[in-house]
Amino acid sequence: MLTCKEQVARSSDYLDGQLTFRERLMVRHHLMFCPNCRRFIRQMRLMQATLKMLPDEPVKEADALAARLAAERLKDQ
Ligand SMILES: [Zn+2]
Repeated sequence: MLTCKEQVARSSDYLDGQLTFRERLMVRHHLMFCPNCRRFIRQMRLMQATLKMLPDEPVKEADALAARLAAERLKDQ
């Protein structure tokens, strides 16, 4: 069985789906028996999901949105 340290080292690859089938099984096996790592993985997954929701370039996105809204408003007039 993996140690917690080995498990943590594989966590981000696990979440990204980068592990081989065998490694994935080892990670799942460890998670089954280790509540600490389960919690860790859950937090990591949550953080990844949050990061994905954030735009890469917030300012540019906001500008584009503002421009689109302005265009829409012009269309209505
Ligand atoms: Zn563990």
